[in-house]
Amino acid sequence: MAEENREHEDVNANDGTDGALVVAENVHKSFGRLEVLKGIDLEVRRGEVMCIIGPSGSGKSTFLRCVNHLEKLSAGRLWVNGELMGYRQKRGKLYELRDSEISAQRSDIGMVFQRFNLFPHLTVLGNVIEAPTQVKRVPKAEATELAMSLLERVGLPDKANTYPEQLSGGQQQRVAIARALAMEPSLMLFDEPTSALDPELVGEVLDVMRDLARAGMTMMVVTHEMGFAREVGDSLVFMDDGVVVESGVPSEVLSDPRHERTRAFLSKVL
Ligand code: ADP
Ligand code: MG
Repeated sequence: MAEENREHEDVNANDGTDGALVVAENVHKSFGRLEVLKGIDLEVRRGEVMCIIGPSGSGKSTFLRCVNHLEKLSAGRLWVNGELMGYRQKRGKLYELRDSEISAQRSDIGMVFQRFNLFPHLTVLGNVIEAPTQVKRVPKAEATELAMSLLERVGLPDKANTYPEQLSGGQQQRVAIARALAMEPSLMLFDEPTSALDPELVGEVLDVMRDLARAGMTMMVVTHEMGFAREVGDSLVFMDDGVVVESGVPSEVLSDPRHERTRAFLSKVL
């Protein structure tokens, strides 16, 4: 009996998600009278790397911020890892979450921004253990051990006691990735992670992201790096003016876009 109940609850917890890690259903977002997202539908499978491209102002950042619930949707639904973002489902009813409860949901999602946003007054190690120790209450020794293995993974084990300002942009961004991974998220969001970097530093950050993808991390990556999208992406989404214009296998979308808007955009960036 107990077994049966548990199974029933699990099925409920995944309602609407179809087994995908991320499901966006008719996502709308407006700022005042400006409608920025006009109904986004998409799914990201577990382990999938989805790259998102599109012109400046098309709503890419806003969409990632909605996935992470840094922005509240104007309409539509978003599930991440079986959780309806912003809500709790209880006995078939929906309850809106308070801000503190939303941050608990958000802790399952890592985000890396164009600007690295490291805490300048903390060392590299301090940056990486901050969220696990403060938000998850992981003991410091345990958090430090995980942090050191993550710094190893991003190629910076010798920088643990360095301050961010002493690092190059590429190194800071790799620390930012390690910091996001320290929360052991099930989803990583990247918003133009290499756009603020000098060209010679882009490769080292993309290498870390490629390794992460190989290790099976589910990733949504807004990027202008078409080589990365083609090589690492499982899917490619082209957004324009708040909608998904087309999506598919990266090599196909890039070499044979179906829509004129995609073709026009690619002719400018490729
Ligand atoms: P992208 O990342 O594709 O360049 P954004 O999502 O940043 O596009 O922006 C899409 C549109 O939404 C832009 O017109 C931008 O000015 C507007 N926008 C984004 N955030 C806000 C905000 N907090 N308040 C008002 N307008 C916003
Ligand atoms: Mg943006």
